[in-house]
Amino acid sequence: MNRRVVDIAVVGGGMVGAATALALAQEGFSVQLLDAAPAPQWHPEDEMDLRVVAFAPSSAAWLDRLGVWSQVREARVQPYRAMRVRDAVQGIEVSFDASLLDSDGLGWIIENRLLQYALWQALEAQGIERLCPARVQGYELDENRIRLSLQDGTSLSARLLVAADGRDSPLRGQAGIPTHGRDYQQRAVVAHLSCERPHQDTAWQRFLPSGPLALLPLSDGRVSLVWSLPESAALDLLDQDDSGFVEAVGVASDFMLGRLQQVSKRAAFPLRLAVAERFSAPRTVLVGDAAHAVHPLAGQGVNLGLRDGEELVSVLAAAHHVGRDFSAAAVLSRYARRRRSASSLDAWSFDAIARLYAFKFPPLVALRGFGMQAVQHLPPLRRALAAHAAGLPLNQYSR
Ligand SMILES: Cc1cc2nc3c(=O)[nH]c(=O)nc-3n(C[C@H](O)[C@H](O)[C@H](O)COP(=O)(O)OP(=O)(O)OC[C@H]3O[C@@H](n4cnc5c(N)ncnc54)[C@H](O)[C@@H]3O)c2cc1C
Repeated sequence: MNRRVVDIAVVGGGMVGAATALALAQEGFSVQLLDAAPAPQWHPEDEMDLRVVAFAPSSAAWLDRLGVWSQVREARVQPYRAMRVRDAVQGIEVSFDASLLDSDGLGWIIENRLLQYALWQALEAQGIERLCPARVQGYELDENRIRLSLQDGTSLSARLLVAADGRDSPLRGQAGIPTHGRDYQQRAVVAHLSCERPHQDTAWQRFLPSGPLALLPLSDGRVSLVWSLPESAALDLLDQDDSGFVEAVGVASDFMLGRLQQVSKRAAFPLRLAVAERFSAPRTVLVGDAAHAVHPLAGQGVNLGLRDGEELVSVLAAAHHVGRDFSAAAVLSRYARRRRSASSLDAWSFDAIARLYAFKFPPLVALRGFGMQAVQHLPPLRRALAAHAAGLPLNQYSR
């Protein structure tokens, strides 16, 4: 059975696909969102999602324009006003605070499930079609359409496919787009913990040679651990009992928030850098992790993905509003060129940071310390770094 034909099918209703689908519909496109998983659920009484993201002001501003941010903000979010980054080997610290951006905060720590749920609520309120659970198995192209085949034997036709189907993107594979990057052979262990000292609305990060450890502030006073470490060490850590686990995290964090207690459930996510060689193919574009999966050390993955969504919608709407074919290769490649150069620069910079902190060779360690001290003592440089992470225009912060 073939369902109705839409302008744009968005496959993947994670944070990036859902926001992009919403923005496209608000620009007047007919949109169908499909996801292999059931619709997301979130309730204030629920246990906090183990997966949280550091959400940048640029992402919040886009969600605000889409009419979703107030709902998210009034739910369970934690602003963070400062960030402290320490080198575990040399004890050198670089700190960023909101005054660098003349602002109240550097960003927010938000549960993934809350963000996704708020976006799906907005899609529903605006009558945008969502099909789930619906797994897309593949597609065929003809001259005017792309026809998606679903696992349940039905199909759906659209003029354009937006692949927001995550890091392992089966649709990217079908489009024949290779990725560049590397397997970090690390897992990020995540858990929520209570701590002896208040988190002070600060994101704390300690770079160990085996990988970075972050303690991100949560709205209930706890912190969210994101600790990247080699595969086998990560699996051993998951196997520890609660007291062994909190002790290991305490030691690795140098007890920067005192003793840690009461750990939630734990999970570990394998880490890989994967940047797609192209962000477009005939009648297809990639957004979010499907286009670029990055190391979580800079807390930027979803923020980069939302910037893809925003750029894509602006390029497609500009073509559509002047009566041009929005699915034409020239239009898609305009999006693809702009976003690929910006996001691959970020992706490889995060990779360089991961390599830099893994160095044990003393002259390189000394050089790293020199670099950190230079950043700490040069406010314009810190301001530029903070503005870039926040997704704000650098020229406003270059004084
Ligand atoms: C430990 C960790 C910490 C992180 N911290 C941060 C942070 O602080 N800040 C930040 O910005 N980013 C962070 N990230 C990255 C961030 O989580 C990802 O960039 C983001 O979740 C990607 O969103 P997405 O919508 O592109 O993809 P996903 O969330 O992976 O969504 C893909 C969707 O596609 C659907 N799908 C897949 N295949 C199909 C199919 N065939 N048919 C239909 N549907 C399909 C899936 O069901 C899924 O819902 C972190 C990542 C990790 C692992």
